[in-house]
Amino acid sequence: MKDTAISEANPTPYHAPSRSGLTLPTVGIDIGGTKINAAVVAPGEENLLSLINAPTPTDSVQFLNTLVDMVETLKQKHNAVAVGISTAGVVDSIHGRILGSTGNMPALKNLSNLRELLTERINLPVHMENDANAAAYGEWRSGAAKGAENMFAITLGTGVGMGIVFNGLMYRGSHFYAGEGGHIAISYHRERKCTCGRWDCWEAFASGTGLQKTAELTVEAAPETAQAEFLQKYCADGKVTTYAVIAAWKDNNHIGVQIMDDWHNHIAVGLGSLINVMDPDMIVVGGGLAQFVNFELLQERTRERSMSNNFQLVPATLGNHAGIVGAAYLAMETLK
Ligand SMILES: [Zn+2]
Repeated sequence: MKDTAISEANPTPYHAPSRSGLTLPTVGIDIGGTKINAAVVAPGEENLLSLINAPTPTDSVQFLNTLVDMVETLKQKHNAVAVGISTAGVVDSIHGRILGSTGNMPALKNLSNLRELLTERINLPVHMENDANAAAYGEWRSGAAKGAENMFAITLGTGVGMGIVFNGLMYRGSHFYAGEGGHIAISYHRERKCTCGRWDCWEAFASGTGLQKTAELTVEAAPETAQAEFLQKYCADGKVTTYAVIAAWKDNNHIGVQIMDDWHNHIAVGLGSLINVMDPDMIVVGGGLAQFVNFELLQERTRERSMSNNFQLVPATLGNHAGIVGAAYLAMETLK
């Protein structure tokens, strides 16, 4: 191993590939802001093979070297024949170029032609995909939405990500901007500024950041006694955090319940609109905050806002590894 620190972790089981898609061992790589995860997805295997990870370098040269080392490690071990990469940013997956907005990954700013550079070094075909797309595709191919004809997956984290599978194909739109559901506006009152610079995007309400904002506003507006009790009991340093809200909610504290109820309504507003446009058979909800979603409540609130009642709203099952699985499937299917 060169100068990159690659370590191994325990894999997560996933449904063994049963469709025609994956026929040969393929490396899946998920590039995150702090960590790069990689593993091999292979036909007939119920686990990811040799899940490895490394810190995400901020320097472009080191970044590329790290990817090369990771691929070489996995390729030798499992005879992998292709590589699928899941990354933040708008990705032209046809030409393998990162078109913009890679957020917190400075190394990628100088690597818009990452696919070309990597292919030259590792001598394997490489497919690149936006991370929300890859995660949705993974859940569709071998996770929670296996067998759906039309589905979309959302990830509730710092933001709200979305990926769409339409008529059995990854749907990217005409310019690779499809699936920006997090940025549909749910109000015109200019209540909350979104990270994208626009106002009142769904993400500004339904994400972790949105939940925290709702919490701050709710606590601020609460009657004095209830407010003091909430702050004293759940907010050690006086700061209203998402964790404080979750703890209060579990305690059945009135303010905590109100905030979480509003949050479920916020998520349902966006889901209802998206369902009315797409008429999907399945919707997958994942991301770090999905564990706090009451699916029964969300289902009920979403049905109130959608024309169709014929959909299933389910939690994601591949966890952090959906991107790896999806990228690997897309690589194999696109490159064969
Ligand atoms: Zn926005």
